[in-house]
Amino acid sequence: MFADVIVDINNVEVDKIFEYSYSDTAITIGSRVAVPFGKKIIEGIVISTHEQSNYDPNKIREIDRLLEQTPALTQETLALMDYVCKTCYVTRASALRLFLPSEMRKGKVKEQFFRLVSIVDGVNVEKVVQSLRKSAVKQIQLLHFLQENNRANFTDLAQEFGNSAVNSLIEKGYLKINLEQKFRSPYKDVNALDKQVCLTEKQLLAVDSVCKTDKTVSLIFGVTGSGKTEVYLNLINKVISQGKTAILLVPEISLTPQMLKQLRARFGDNAAILHSGLSAGERFDEWWRLRNGDAKIAIGARSAIFAPIENLGLIIIDEEHDGSYTSESSPRYSTVDVAKFRAEKNGAKLVLGSATPSVESFNNALNGEYNLIELPDRINKRPLPNVEIADMRKEVRRGNNSPFSSILKEELEDCLNKGNQAIIFLNQRGYSKTVICTECGHVQKCESCDVSLTYHREDESLLCHYCGAKYKMIDACTECGSPFIRYGGTGTERVVDELKKLYPSAKILRMDRDTTQNKEGHFKILSKFSAREADILVGTQMIAKGHDFPFVTLVGILDADMSLHFSDFRSGERTFQLLTQVAGRSGRAEQAGKVVLQTYSPENPILKYAIKYDYLNFFKQEISIRKATAFPPFTDVVRVLITCEDDEKALLATKAIYDELNLIYTEKRDKFRFFGSMKAPLKRLQGKFRYQVLMRVNANDRALLDKVFYTVDKYNNRTVFVSLEINSNNLT
Ligand code: ADP
Ligand code: ZN
Ligand code: ZN
Repeated sequence: MFADVIVDINNVEVDKIFEYSYSDTAITIGSRVAVPFGKKIIEGIVISTHEQSNYDPNKIREIDRLLEQTPALTQETLALMDYVCKTCYVTRASALRLFLPSEMRKGKVKEQFFRLVSIVDGVNVEKVVQSLRKSAVKQIQLLHFLQENNRANFTDLAQEFGNSAVNSLIEKGYLKINLEQKFRSPYKDVNALDKQVCLTEKQLLAVDSVCKTDKTVSLIFGVTGSGKTEVYLNLINKVISQGKTAILLVPEISLTPQMLKQLRARFGDNAAILHSGLSAGERFDEWWRLRNGDAKIAIGARSAIFAPIENLGLIIIDEEHDGSYTSESSPRYSTVDVAKFRAEKNGAKLVLGSATPSVESFNNALNGEYNLIELPDRINKRPLPNVEIADMRKEVRRGNNSPFSSILKEELEDCLNKGNQAIIFLNQRGYSKTVICTECGHVQKCESCDVSLTYHREDESLLCHYCGAKYKMIDACTECGSPFIRYGGTGTERVVDELKKLYPSAKILRMDRDTTQNKEGHFKILSKFSAREADILVGTQMIAKGHDFPFVTLVGILDADMSLHFSDFRSGERTFQLLTQVAGRSGRAEQAGKVVLQTYSPENPILKYAIKYDYLNFFKQEISIRKATAFPPFTDVVRVLITCEDDEKALLATKAIYDELNLIYTEKRDKFRFFGSMKAPLKRLQGKFRYQVLMRVNANDRALLDKVFYTVDKYNNRTVFVSLEINSNNLT
């Protein structure tokens, strides 16, 4: 027999299918195999098999061996891999990596086994004991122990009765060893939490609507606290009881343990968790539990959409608007698009849920492509918290230089006095965003990027938030030697410092990328806050979503404008979403909540809609702007990014690419709404100069995108790197 194999080398030149012969009948489509390649043996995956060779059979080499009995991929995941290759313009090997836990490739991690010892069937223990010497006390005790306990772990027995006792009984044929796979299970300390609730009428209608609609995609547009999670759990339950499987995606790793608690309570070991924060072994084992069908629900962040699940009945994408669902590095896939593909292939339902749907999704719901389900009220009709605006321009005029407005200080005091909890949100980690010399105005910058460095007081360092480079904090300006340094722009570390000065007895937790380095960091901070071991939680956007803290009655948003001034077309949308999400953390239980929103531009319409939770009017305004200015969903934004360490070479390549694309543009002008080339907003990153050719083209014109890709891709070489981004969330 012959097999077509994709080899695991991510190189455009070997992005071909190689044929091998084999005789092992266990080899089938989707099997992982080791194959000879040049002088090496490398790993690959079988994508098809056939009886006749397509080449001269004498020149075909043979598959070295099968790596696992169970094929790692299925027909469906292979089709999905093909789809990713075609739509994200990546090699097969690179697409393949989405489907296999990295630990599995190159055999870095193996299954762990228990060696279980038991008495061989038919052995009469009493007779054996009589045949043993009286001095063989340990052996006799061991036999009696096993007689009572059936079987036990080899290591435990060896410790209790001695290695030689166990081994000698095995040698004599009285005991046998069986291997049983040991599953490493993540989040062992996450206890099942079961809040059995009766669904409200609205929730029941939502569940019903998803089941009955003939549309593949349902969008649940439900305010924060409207009980969407409960709807998801119900839908999963339905699907599982029909013998099917489900995938549940959440935007941030930090949300997974919380969701997992509820899933554990309802579905036990049926839920498996997939994400990069797990240890290699755990990820490997969870992956296999899904692949073997031992677990039927995959839960995780973006990449869990590639879960090795068969018989899929339901995919849920919670907080579907979240930016993390778009991959910002190759392969640049859109999770929603991949989910649609899988749902359609399986005849499964796709549920998107959000309090602030993406403009694209809501548009699809309004034009009838999606089934729209609304949950307009919070559970028990609890009101959404009242938002008060603090005009920071006035505060500054009054001489208030602290990060907190006077209203926020009053509210904080009131909140703490009542024994409630508060959340302070600021989307900037570190102590200060920049350090500036007060003498000459010099701003400390990263050596390899065109960005200013952030001061981190915890370890007295200056950190580049783009490339991760770390420098020592300066005592004096590196330009003029002046010791007078000013801190520009407040970060979370500084906020905690200032709060400690104002409220010395308050307990404060900080949650940002720096305090959540290790695997369960998020979980620990959130559990502490949830257990009321702290009064104030200060954090970045990590704290914005999903969490449900019943004793939080105040949310302070320190700089509501931060994301408004980014240059890309989604900045307004993102600000609206973020503010609504953060505000939604307040007043979720019996006590009413408050929100104080600090801004330097209180008349901005986006903020005005946000404080009234007026999604519909926000959407109306946003979609009309997008239409008038020809932005998504009315067009696709396509960026060709050219980077190179040598500025000259980057510029030359950009010029050549521009000229060649210009031919397409001139020929097909009716397909374009914009065409131009310029420096990228971030001119240098990690030592590389950056240029871009920007286009806006008619939406979903695959043929045109293909043409653009094949035109620019050939400019990739060892020094110049050219990539294509379609509707990217991040056009820095
Ligand atoms: P969302 O996901 O829409 O923000 P959640 O599902 O987290 O909302 O629900 C908000 C709160 O209401 C949670 O504490 C949840 O346990 C509770 N809840 C949800 N549905 C019900 C219900 N039918 N009856 C009582 N409480 C409910
Ligand atoms: Zn200076
Ligand atoms: Zn840098």
